Amino acid sequence: MAKELAVNPGRCIGCCTCALTCAITNHGEFDLAKAFIYITRHEFDGTFAITFSSCCRGCQKCALACPAGALRVVETAGTVD
Ligand code: SF4
Ligand code: SF4
Repeated sequence: MAKELAVNPGRCIGCCTCALTCAITNHGEFDLAKAFIYITRHEFDGTFAITFSSCCRGCQKCALACPAGALRVVETAGTVD
């Protein structure tokens, strides 16, 4: 089974644990500016948007760290490359 990163922005609480995990994984620093995932708060309704940089390498560490289920690793029917 292949594994994919599933995104559900409606569950995001804006904690940025994902972005900090990405930054420490890829750069060895807890620096949000160095993350490949971005959490943006919509001011009009307080919800959050989740977007990824083209530099994201798909390691899924951010999903494993998400405490709210907004990012999850899911198994798909495809095969692993
Ligand atoms: S999947 Fe992408 S955004 Fe998530 S931790 Fe890995 S490199 Fe960062
Ligand atoms: S996606 Fe998950 S870890 Fe990232 S800010 Fe939202 S709730 Fe926090």
